[in-house]
Amino acid sequence: MLILFEPGARGADLTRAIRQAGKLGLKARRVPGLDAGAVAIRCGDRSGDPGDFEKLPGVRLVVPVSRPYPRAARRRRDTVIRLQGGRVLVGGNRFTVIAGPCVVEDEASVLRIARAVKKAGATILRGGAFKPRTSPYSFQGLGPEGLRILAAAREETGLPFVTEALDSRSLEAVARHADIIQIGARNMQNFPLLREAGRLRKPILLKRGQSATVDEWLMAAEYILSEGNPDVILCERGIRTMSGHTRNTLDLNAVCIARRLSHLPVIVDPSHGTGLRETIIPLSRAAAALPAHGIIVEVHDRPQDALCDGHQALPPVLLAGLIRDLRAMAKISGYRM
Ligand code: PEP
Ligand code: MN
Repeated sequence: MLILFEPGARGADLTRAIRQAGKLGLKARRVPGLDAGAVAIRCGDRSGDPGDFEKLPGVRLVVPVSRPYPRAARRRRDTVIRLQGGRVLVGGNRFTVIAGPCVVEDEASVLRIARAVKKAGATILRGGAFKPRTSPYSFQGLGPEGLRILAAAREETGLPFVTEALDSRSLEAVARHADIIQIGARNMQNFPLLREAGRLRKPILLKRGQSATVDEWLMAAEYILSEGNPDVILCERGIRTMSGHTRNTLDLNAVCIARRLSHLPVIVDPSHGTGLRETIIPLSRAAAALPAHGIIVEVHDRPQDALCDGHQALPPVLLAGLIRDLRAMAKISGYRM
């Protein structure tokens, strides 16, 4: 970061900025040979916040030189997340299909749906045991019993599973059972929870907040990475816009931007992306064309009876056809499934 001072700034102003950097644990020194004063700050892998210096006396401009999320920022090689000893991969040149019910309702239905999504060609199962619901009166999930059911479905089908943690307590339980831990849109900026997830050794699927910019999303990923967990999957799940026809607007632009800015895998959730079943197939195809690194899609064999989000769930027979299309499209994009 470079701090440029007003021409009339005094030596004491530069000293104050250097002292401020010191208090923040950053190394700073004067840059000699410039007409107006300048201070260069070395941020290393921590990144600095221009806001810490902009309001100091004599400061004209603070120029960030490195990205504010050094660990999430693009490197030459994409991160590839390995599950079950590398049998299932997310990222790199893979297109991965994650599918299952919105919420775990009971053992029989999860087993039925897990078998069906496996047969259709999905390689990871999804299902919520702890659910973030808009209304406190809506079904909140089965909690620990839901985790047991998901583990039973994995035992039978061999599919690894992803499920959401809502808070510290559920994070601990989810981390014990799940293959991937989801942090949902509503918790994208729950910074203590992100830090806790960063101290685990399980991949984290980080959904984009409903009103978050791409930079805020990557900064949320940085919280997890900065604690030492390198395995973060970004998931675009739709944002709030003025569209009255859909629950959210799936922001496919953001997938392209996130892929350019970061080495992390970026997947798409076409179910929450619009809240409509009819757009799941075209938007999943669009995800493969971008290309994203995969989709996470809600599937239910009796959507009319589903306890949550049945209106945005695909029946298994349509998933099978979609996956056939995605295989062809992934091939054109140079990706493997
Ligand atoms: C979900 O995937 O079940 C979910 C609640 O997603 P989001 O956090 O994107 O709303
Ligand atoms: Mn849902």
